[in-house]
Amino acid sequence: MTETRKDEAEASIVDLLEYQGKQFFARYGIPVSDGEATSDTEEAVAIAERVGYPVVVKAQVHTGGRGKAGGVKLAENADECRVHATNILGLDIKGHVVEIIWIEHASDIAEEYYASFTLDRAAKLHLGMLSAEGGVEIETVAEENPDAIARIHINPVVGLTEEACREWVAAAELNPKATEGAVDILMKLYTAYTEGDADLVEINPLILKPTGEVHALDAKVSLDGNATYEHPDYEQYDATQPRDEREAAAHEKGLQYVGLDGTVGVIANGAGLAMSTVDVVNQVGGAPANFLDIGGGANADVMAGALEVINNDPSVQAIFINIFGGITRGEEVANGIIEAMGRVTIDPPIVIRLDGTNADEGRALLEPHLNDKLMMADNMLDAARKAVELAKG
Ligand code: GDP
Ligand code: MN
Repeated sequence: MTETRKDEAEASIVDLLEYQGKQFFARYGIPVSDGEATSDTEEAVAIAERVGYPVVVKAQVHTGGRGKAGGVKLAENADECRVHATNILGLDIKGHVVEIIWIEHASDIAEEYYASFTLDRAAKLHLGMLSAEGGVEIETVAEENPDAIARIHINPVVGLTEEACREWVAAAELNPKATEGAVDILMKLYTAYTEGDADLVEINPLILKPTGEVHALDAKVSLDGNATYEHPDYEQYDATQPRDEREAAAHEKGLQYVGLDGTVGVIANGAGLAMSTVDVVNQVGGAPANFLDIGGGANADVMAGALEVINNDPSVQAIFINIFGGITRGEEVANGIIEAMGRVTIDPPIVIRLDGTNADEGRALLEPHLNDKLMMADNMLDAARKAVELAKG
């Protein structure tokens, strides 16, 4: 039971690092630069010698904007390569510490474009986006110059026809020299997107070289984690998945936990109640730090584990324990909380809402333990308000 739940919690989106994305593209015939990944400075130099100078040394992290952050550097020779590799390994880019670098032969760039495929859920169609304004964040282009993005909706049953692709490329007004190369790459990119069960494939920049070739200089790929049964080789990406340390710790304890960005730690029994708890915290103006379902057995072990995971999250300013007793009786839950509090020292204040089977007995047990760090509220809404107020204060 625990195993299945754990697997379900972890199977979602598989984000590839740039080099993995490029290797994925290469399998579909999309031109990328020759390169290799490493975590070692001297090996980086050896790779550079093999692919030939000039090379680009690129940080491999699960975030964009690496160039601006100093994570993409050109090197003309071994000395420069060594310096850049040393500087980039260990570099912190938006909270992601670089452990892997990718060294590739540098390309000459005439123009930089943008290309992507993703699912337009509202339209229930695939969406392709292509722009002659690449190399910058597409969100910026969308905001400042939305007409510079040519969009195409694709019916998955029909697929992307070459004719439609040509019209789309024409609408993007790329350099005419890039037309043939762009059509070729976009057709292949669409195949990679559909056959590879990707949620997103993005090339930014897609470049036109002075020689007229079109080439993928960057790669962002998110695969559908629910489709891995069709692609056993996707297991290779497990090791480099970005890990939410909180989620890892929670899953190790067999807890159903999803990390969120807010300040109110949430513990509830049952997935439905946990989701409602997240909603109600939002509804009263707060921001949940997590979703956590402790399931039916709210005993001291489970409660202590849950409190420990939440207590270790530095963003949490208040904890909201929301329990509705069903098969689990109120006094069991209360005893679980009291015992857990004796085992782990919890820093943020806790607000408890206890209702359902034997709630009165449970509340009576908690009563003598209440203080300004452990509070009880009569109902879910009041408890949420109290917790949010404490988190803000
Ligand atoms: P990002 O900043 O994380 O999106 O990383 P990119 O891989 O897109 O690289 C950022 C920028 O570095 C690109 O837009 C290019 O301008 C530049 N760059 C990357 N690779 C090369 C290369 O091979 N040659 C040249 N001349 N510039 C490059
Ligand atoms: Mn890029």
